[in-house]
Amino acid sequence: PPLFDMHPVKTLFKIPRNPPPTLLHPEKWCRGFNHFISQCLIKDFEKRPSVTHLLEHPFIRQAHGKDMSLQKQLADLIQAQEQLGFIAKIRYCALYYSADTIIHQLQKRYADLQIYTYVGDILIALNPFQNLSIYSPQFSKLYHGVKRSSNPPHIFASADAAYQGMVTFSKDQCIIISGESGAGKTESAHLIVQHLTFLGKANNRALREKILQVNPLVEAFGNACTAINDNSSRFGKYLEMMFTPTGAVMGAKISEYLLEKSRVIKQAVGEKNFHIFYYIYAGLFHQKKLSEYRLPEKKPPRYIDNETGRVMQDIITKDSYGRQFEAIQHCFRIIGFTDEEVHSVYKILAGILNTGNIEFAAISSQHQTDKSEVPNAEALDNAAALLSIGSEELQEALTSHCVVTRGETIIRTNTVDKAADVRDAMSKALYGRLFSWIVNRINTLLHNAESRMNVGILDIFGFENFTRNSFEQLCINIANEQIQFYFNQHIFALEQMEYQNEGIDATTVEYEDNRPLLDMFLQKPMGVLSLLDEESRFPQATDLTLVDKFEDNLRCKYFWRPKRVELCFGIQHYAGKVLYDAYGFLEKNRDTLPADIVVVLRTSENKLLQQLFSSPLTKTGISLLYFQIDTMEMMRHPEETTNMKRQTVASYFRYSLMDLLSKMVVGQPHFVRCIKPNDDREALKFSQERVLVQLRYTGILETVKIRQQGYSHRILFEEFVKRYYYLAFKAHQTPLGSRESCIAILEKSKLDNWVLGKTKVFLKYYHIEQLNLFLREVI
Ligand code: ADP
Ligand code: MG
Repeated sequence: PPLFDMHPVKTLFKIPRNPPPTLLHPEKWCRGFNHFISQCLIKDFEKRPSVTHLLEHPFIRQAHGKDMSLQKQLADLIQAQEQLGFIAKIRYCALYYSADTIIHQLQKRYADLQIYTYVGDILIALNPFQNLSIYSPQFSKLYHGVKRSSNPPHIFASADAAYQGMVTFSKDQCIIISGESGAGKTESAHLIVQHLTFLGKANNRALREKILQVNPLVEAFGNACTAINDNSSRFGKYLEMMFTPTGAVMGAKISEYLLEKSRVIKQAVGEKNFHIFYYIYAGLFHQKKLSEYRLPEKKPPRYIDNETGRVMQDIITKDSYGRQFEAIQHCFRIIGFTDEEVHSVYKILAGILNTGNIEFAAISSQHQTDKSEVPNAEALDNAAALLSIGSEELQEALTSHCVVTRGETIIRTNTVDKAADVRDAMSKALYGRLFSWIVNRINTLLHNAESRMNVGILDIFGFENFTRNSFEQLCINIANEQIQFYFNQHIFALEQMEYQNEGIDATTVEYEDNRPLLDMFLQKPMGVLSLLDEESRFPQATDLTLVDKFEDNLRCKYFWRPKRVELCFGIQHYAGKVLYDAYGFLEKNRDTLPADIVVVLRTSENKLLQQLFSSPLTKTGISLLYFQIDTMEMMRHPEETTNMKRQTVASYFRYSLMDLLSKMVVGQPHFVRCIKPNDDREALKFSQERVLVQLRYTGILETVKIRQQGYSHRILFEEFVKRYYYLAFKAHQTPLGSRESCIAILEKSKLDNWVLGKTKVFLKYYHIEQLNLFLREVI
């Protein structure tokens, strides 16, 4: 397949049906046409290294001697190529040379609002930062079941390819969307769902409606306003759309990964809590129902108002939050949640907000210095009432904890700071479990036992490298490392398979394998995650002993420890070097919720809440692929793994990563790489540096390299002979379309490095250029 989409070139060369009168004479017309082409091409190639290349081309140099104008030379070249059907390849060859040329191409297309471009099989999507009118049902129709080359590149084409692949080959498909925050992953995922729902036209309109409500509902709970993106997904999502064998949509299923629970209790300056909190606060405010949910009317709860006063102003003056609340109620209803369930959800959310308002003060008595109490009984009572638990029991659980020593239970008091930590841990746990419950509930409501096949859509955070990188970044980057590994595997697997089928030595393809890195992260017992878990089990361990442990055990070139910065360690990821700050790693990994809190919450009269804390929400259907070590271990000690995954964030993370992979690898993948053209969210603004960085992170440059190293042209013997027999045979000869004829042609042309498979000639991108040149000389 060509490296770049050729659509604009093709359009350029399409001969107009009604040529303008001045060009009507066939000869003149032809000249005029080619002149036009050469003009365009020259304009196009200006200031690029490839122009030099083109001019250095022996054909052009030879033509120079004959004193032809540049236009004429190019026109001739193009004409020759066009006659042979290789016209598009001129540009194609030029595009092979550098990252620069790729960026130029993307920039030029972006200026024309062509935000989509193919690089090989991968779709690049540039964020337009403006609404484009290319997603209407007319466009869905346009992209329905047609060849990719028939239309300009589009996200619908990727969705369509996945759908057609599923129906034609009865094979699950998965669309992997990657890119940094704000690049357009979530929008792309929506558009894919939209097109798939269109394609999988169920007669059942209700079902389609339901499926379309899934994303908005889940995102109200999982997305938030950040400094980078007003609707930033704070969790990873894998949405599977289920179909019958004939391609009718039947249901959907979501899996969620790594919800950023810490946002519930604290947000950075300029950022906000999860959307749902504002939606319900504003909705209840406008409906005058705040008191019913025991929410303060004058001053919004602390968890949602980190810049005092701002939120209330927004809530009163703008009614968008209120409308969103209506929309969410609609989503709940359409998907099939009962009123009772929705009411419970709101109560828990209001309970969390009230919990955040509980304060602690030290009780100063002569004997005890580290005891705390709740001075604002109102918040405590409200929280307890909303969570349907006793307020005294709640206070006890927040301000003290039980320790069992030698079979004896001792009650210890919590300091003010400790009590506040427990409170926040409870809020995070409540929200995290509520989120998982909503996702599971949607899955139950949209599950359909009859569906046979699915298209999965992965929308997960891209590689992150901030000024300060913590545990969360480590997890996200490991996930990306894993997805990149899968990407490489796939890109190569295809190449390799073709080579193998053709009996060609496959060792010729080389690429940067990130497997050693993955081993460093995930291996047991000496990988980063295992070491972290091990250290998390020692009560005396500190973040510093953790970094020491890393340093002692991770003896490989991908890990280093900078001098003089104690809690820091560096990792050379596939996408670049990242410095991590280990401060808080152990605490974040332990993510402990004191048993006292669990005990109290289990006594709740709210059925939903009881359910959230009675049994761990587990995921089923693990089958592991990459990590054979893991697979074997899991099979040997399934019970241990189950315990582990409940114990720490790292082990749960490892588990869900495996779970995700196991889903992905059974399907045929399609890759969508989202790119953010600028950091100001401005339409039509294209920063070359920013794009370059992302092309590197997302592995596009690697892919191009891979394609360059491999044999980009694979031509069947017969076809090859048909095209090039002039090079070795006389015009009247009719050579067989055989291996021998091919060898004759290739040897006569004095090319090196080509390979013959069983049925195809394998050529490098530059071979084609040369062959065409020779052909031009002979004709
Ligand atoms: P990500 O999920 O990668 O963080 P989003 O999908 O949330 O990014 O996109 C961020 C913002 O960019 C969106 O809110 C929207 O304003 C804009 N955007 C992204 N893709 C498109 C698109 N195809 N058309 C119009 N706007 C888009
Ligand atoms: Mg997103």
